[in-house]
Amino acid sequence: MKITSLQNFIDQMLKTVENRRQLSSKYLVNKEVDFDALQQLIAVYHGIEQIPNQNGWKLLTLSEGESSRVNVDYETEELKKDIWFFEKGENQFIKHLSELHSAYWQEVNDGIEFLDSIKFRNFITDRDGTINNYCGRYSTSVQSAYNAIFVSRFTTLIKNKPIILTSAPLQNSGIIDISVNPQDLFIYAGSKGREFRAADGAIISYPIEKEKQEMLDTLNARLSELTKQKEYKDFKRIGSGLQFKFGQTTMARQDIQQSIESERSESFLQEVESLVQKIDPDGRYFRIEDTGLDIEIILTIDRNGSAKDFDKGDGILFINEQQNLGIEKGPNLICGDTASDIAMVKASVQQSKETYTIFVTKDEELKRQVRQACSNTFFVSEPDILLSILNKKTLS
Ligand SMILES: [Mg+2]
Repeated sequence: MKITSLQNFIDQMLKTVENRRQLSSKYLVNKEVDFDALQQLIAVYHGIEQIPNQNGWKLLTLSEGESSRVNVDYETEELKKDIWFFEKGENQFIKHLSELHSAYWQEVNDGIEFLDSIKFRNFITDRDGTINNYCGRYSTSVQSAYNAIFVSRFTTLIKNKPIILTSAPLQNSGIIDISVNPQDLFIYAGSKGREFRAADGAIISYPIEKEKQEMLDTLNARLSELTKQKEYKDFKRIGSGLQFKFGQTTMARQDIQQSIESERSESFLQEVESLVQKIDPDGRYFRIEDTGLDIEIILTIDRNGSAKDFDKGDGILFINEQQNLGIEKGPNLICGDTASDIAMVKASVQQSKETYTIFVTKDEELKRQVRQACSNTFFVSEPDILLSILNKKTLS
């Protein structure tokens, strides 16, 4: 297998979705290893290894033939872990994880104690950086099979269907397309919960008024035009690129590799801001959130007579309403890794005192904010440690 272009690489990674689905679902039934699927993963891993290197980056060609430095750490590491898991067995794999992270056993054991014998009604979690290692490029951030096995086992302890909620889109290069958990174990929610796939497979979306949708369509059309211009083309190819979500649009202005000169990135931000300003001079329809990497343009919703942007807390309340999850009854376990996930914690705490939260972070300021939002908190340093807690809790 020869991988020469970024498109080749993306195609090969997406092919691992089906292999990983087979691997995880067979293993979950009776610990059977699907060796054909495993061979496919090994072939993709070797294919990636053979891509030429430059100072730790991989060199791949883009559509116009020029070469670009690409970071493939997430894809390589997760393939390595999957291969390790199925070749050497689960116990060896856990030993391997504990060698990768020095605080592993301490955090795993404390986490199991934190969960105690609570019978959770709901388990609601963010994906990237929380139960999945972080990948800078959404299109190739395929869930690994070991990850699916660990997190799927935990669903047996939860009364309702657990929810995996992300700010990325739901479908069309969304969370559904890169998840490999066995069918129907989770409710998947995209666009911060503005759209979700229910337990019965139905796709349900938060209603957007016609007028607002038209504004968003206009904005999206203008952004498409803008990024066709020669000087702005690159912004579609880096990091998050240009993503049309439900009720929200994401436009990259930088990526983790800092591929764009900072001056160029800043002036593109100004360009996008003035475009939004032209379409929505009174700021009635859109809020802009600049993460430094991505410009998030979010359609506002009306709550108690004033316009606010839709956050993940609004998302879980919407799903609660639609699916009768009984968040107001609790107990609820909420997991996240960034400040935007605190909205879920707050929404749950407002509904039920029986809210517990685990955050994946080493950031002391974020920890302080989480503690302020909820009295039952626990922190871990890595997604793999949270996964291990959920796994071990189920098996113990
Ligand atoms: Mg996250």
